[in-house]
Amino acid sequence: MQKHSTLFDNNLKNINLKNINSSWTLFIDRDGVVNEEKTDDYIYAWNEFRFYEGVKEAFRIFHKKFGVIVMVTNQRGVAKGLMKLKDLNSIHRNMVAEIEKTGGRIDKIYTCTDMESPLRKPNTGMGLQALKDFKAINLSKSIMVGNTLSDMKFGRNLGVKTNVFLPTTRKEVDINDPTIDLVFPDLISFAQAL
Ligand SMILES: [Mg+2]
Repeated sequence: MQKHSTLFDNNLKNINLKNINSSWTLFIDRDGVVNEEKTDDYIYAWNEFRFYEGVKEAFRIFHKKFGVIVMVTNQRGVAKGLMKLKDLNSIHRNMVAEIEKTGGRIDKIYTCTDMESPLRKPNTGMGLQALKDFKAINLSKSIMVGNTLSDMKFGRNLGVKTNVFLPTTRKEVDINDPTIDLVFPDLISFAQAL
């Protein structure tokens, strides 16, 4: 049986998204999910950060649905010396402020700024940090949303219930990849399915 008969046909999903409530956790990637990703480059400052359409509305829905919302983002531009940690932190402060202003929230942002590290996705380090920080996280009631197979591997390695793939930037990815459970065109489409 094909997992996806068409690109966004989630009829064979292993989860009823309507059952998601405050006992659930959302793990969410940043670039290519929340904001426009630069091709092979980093977002260096807040004035370069562009929310995708519908993202703030999506976070308003997530705020009502999920008990815990954590962002997990690889940002090795810092280790490469291309980007300053204080600029990354400033981007995140502004991003969270914008999301909160429009009725959403992110409980915590985990970043991996190293070249190679147990924290760097697809390794599980950032997820394990979140598990330590939020006792309410139950992996069997957790969803990972990302736009790369590395995000999907992170979800599998960590052991979340469901991996949601958004083919926003990686059109070449085979959406029948075994690490992908559900596919939505963008973040707001996923939020509206909850
Ligand atoms: Mg990404």
